[in-house]
Amino acid sequence: MKFNLENIIRENVKGLKPYSSARDEYVSDGSEMVFLDANENPFDNGVNRYPDPQQRGLKAVLAEQKKLDPKNILLGNGSDEVLDLLFRAFCEPKTDNIVTLPPTYGMYKVLAGTNEIENREVLLAKDFQLDVDSILKQVDSRTKLIFICSPNNPTGNSFDEASILKLLKNFTGLVIIDEAYIDFSEQTSWVARLEEFPNLVVTQTLSKAYGMAGIRLGICIASEATISVLNKIKPPYNVNELTQAYAQKRVANVLRIKSEVTELLEQKKLLLQVLPKVSFIKKVYPSDANFLLVKVDDADKRYEQLLKKGVVVRNRSSQPLCENTLRLTIGTSEENIKLVTALKNLS
Ligand SMILES: *Cc1c(COP(=O)(O)O)cnc(C)c1O
Repeated sequence: MKFNLENIIRENVKGLKPYSSARDEYVSDGSEMVFLDANENPFDNGVNRYPDPQQRGLKAVLAEQKKLDPKNILLGNGSDEVLDLLFRAFCEPKTDNIVTLPPTYGMYKVLAGTNEIENREVLLAKDFQLDVDSILKQVDSRTKLIFICSPNNPTGNSFDEASILKLLKNFTGLVIIDEAYIDFSEQTSWVARLEEFPNLVVTQTLSKAYGMAGIRLGICIASEATISVLNKIKPPYNVNELTQAYAQKRVANVLRIKSEVTELLEQKKLLLQVLPKVSFIKKVYPSDANFLLVKVDDADKRYEQLLKKGVVVRNRSSQPLCENTLRLTIGTSEENIKLVTALKNLS
């Protein structure tokens, strides 16, 4: 069986025509026009007009930076909206299923739940790598999506290229590679291989390396055909004007983003030297991201102790294979010194 997008689109979505908004019907070419088409308030305050439903300006900047065609991009209110659109476009409630690979990002499971889609879980194997054979065994004719988070949250590692390739070649649904942390990694983005694999979907975000978690901007990169399906069901004005304008300005500042990433990677290196010397830290896992997963003697106890010293970390112990682990985000130099000082003073 080969991948065929038509085979996996939900029946109701196939027949849908997207809502045509005023800003879809008339696209400004920059000339002075009188806009009396959208029942907006005409008095200018910077946000009195509806935003561009296709976010053309922002997509152009992102497309150039990521060496893509804007036709391969869909933007959403955070990756979380993008992921939800994938469920709503391709997964038939109570009928279809998805595969997720715990320990991993919690939203895939939450979205499966809200969309009434069965979530088939296949645990990561040794060194938190993919167990490709077990994954393929879980797949049946109703499996629509496999979620691969690489670098993975909360374990921090990237997945081996050969394993991902095997899934892309052998699975006839969509392989979603969540690259929220790709800008901290030495691995090349799977975006470069979009042409090769029509069933590849990559998601990225402005929430991590780009430093804009507060404006909510998620990026979906896929074949033009897949993007068209998602465009049919996305809310017309899902990315607001303030977000579009702010993102467009900040994304263009490549030097700032690069220097912040470099600084965080330096800080990670320092923490990697210091953390193993803390008496109750048993293991620091390798990380391609802006956080470190550490195994401690008693995660609940250490979490509470750190809180009392004013440092908030994430206790990941409830996740499979993550017993007694804490996830530490790399902060500024000052913040990391506070973390290390606090850790060294715990008894
Ligand atoms: C933080 C994170 C995101 C980002 O989600 P947004 O909704 O874009 O803020 C996506 N995926 C993973 C795995 C993350 O850790």
